Formats: sequence, structure tokens, C-alpha cells
Amino acid sequence: MAKTSPDSREGLAYRYADTLERIREQTERYNRPDGSVRLIAVSKQHSAEAVAAVARLGQTDFGENYVQESLAKIRAVAAMLGSDSSPLPLVWHFIGHIQSRKCRDIAETFDWVHTIDSEKVARRLDTYRADKAPLQSLIQVNLQDEPGKSGISADRIGDLAALVDSLPNLELRGLMAIPRPQTEFSLQRDVFRQMRELLEHHRCRHGRMDQLSMGMSDDMEAAISEGATLIRVGTAVFGPRTINQST
Ligand SMILES: *Cc1c(COP(=O)(O)O)cnc(C)c1O
Repeated sequence: MAKTSPDSREGLAYRYADTLERIREQTERYNRPDGSVRLIAVSKQHSAEAVAAVARLGQTDFGENYVQESLAKIRAVAAMLGSDSSPLPLVWHFIGHIQSRKCRDIAETFDWVHTIDSEKVARRLDTYRADKAPLQSLIQVNLQDEPGKSGISADRIGDLAALVDSLPNLELRGLMAIPRPQTEFSLQRDVFRQMRELLEHHRCRHGRMDQLSMGMSDDMEAAISEGATLIRVGTAVFGPRTINQST
């Protein structure tokens, strides 16, 4: 692997191309249709400059975890790309834990939210989303029932899905999970398989529920093998995280 500083343009271009290649290979290996796996470049703790550089390479979807950090960054990136005619409009995904006092900012700023895990948050996002295209919404599942972790248990998906589906300004699109890190492919795959089965089960009732947000830098191959449609990849694209985290 080429040795490059995390912020250098070549480093980004190299890592981005390498990530796209990993996705392409795995998509082919598992006979997934072309374009069925969408890369979300997770830019938390990375600079607006780094996001703009990846956008200029053709990346459209970006994920952020912290509201304060992302609001400033999204504005800065828009300003940087403003006069640039080449990149397509960017699509912003909120993938962090949702605090109810941040629902307004999230609903007003993001195109997708992956981490709805309560009725209260769903209703608040809906309230603040008015006057815009529906917020593309996923429910976060805590499949292994890990204590202290966001997400609902699998047996509560049905109720929350029905609620989200009923809210006019949210569009229910699927499920998201952040499984416990595992190094072995077969163990990674077990959890992703359960997610796929959960989506299939709930999709019968909610037809537009066709997205599975799962897989990160270290387990994206396993996620793709089990039907991930949105993979959230940070380190593999941007390198190690740099900026201090803030909420
Ligand atoms: C940070 C983060 C990612 C990206 O993780 P990497 O291991 O850097 O690819 C994906 N999903 C969520 C929810 C995250 O917080």
C-alpha cells in the first residue's frame, strides 16, 4: 500500500478508489446487481476540505454522527463546491445517536436518517420536517441487545415501523445496525443475515422498506454478502479520524 499522509489528496484518491474496488468485487462475487450497494462516506471527525475532495472524485453520499460538527461542515462543503459544476448534489445521512433536542437540526439539514430508535424521536423529526421532501428514514436495531447501545430490540421493530410509516414527513426505508466488532467473516455474516431476514419479514407490510444500512470499513464484505444496500465507510475512505469529536 502506498504510504501517504491521511490528508493528502493522493491518499484520499487512492483510498477512495480502493474502497470502490472492494465494493465492486464483493457485489460481483455475490451476484448483486450493479449499483445495488451505495457507499456512504462517513466523514465524522474529518474536515470539510476532505469531504469536498472526495465529492470531487464523484462521491455523493456522506454520513455524519454529530450534529454540531456536521452543520458547520455541511455549510462549508457547500461553499467550497458552490462554484464547482462537476459534483452532483450531495446527499447527507445522519448516522449518529439522535438526541431529542437535536431533532430539529437533523430534520432540517439531512436527507436520510439511519438511527430512529424511539417513537418520540420519530414524531419530533416528523414535526420539524414539514415543507420538505420526506426524510428517508431507517430504524436502528440493537440485534444483540447490547446494553447501553442505541437501537431497539428486534421484537419492537413492527410497532415503530408502523408509526414511522404513518408519519407524513418521514418515509420508512429500512433498518440499520452496528453489530459488535468481530474479526471472523462467518461471525460478521451471522448478524447481517439476521438483519436481512428482519428486513424481509417487515417489508411484507411496508413495501418501501427496501434498505439495509450495515457494514463499515472492517466488515463491509460480510455486509454486502448479506444484502447491505447502504454501507457506511469512514476509515477506509478518509484514513484515521482527526478532528476532536463534538456533539
Ligand atoms: C464511524 C461510523 C462508521 C464508520 O466506521 P469506520 O470503521 O471508520 O468505517 C459507520 N457507522 C457508524 C454508525 C459510525 O459511527
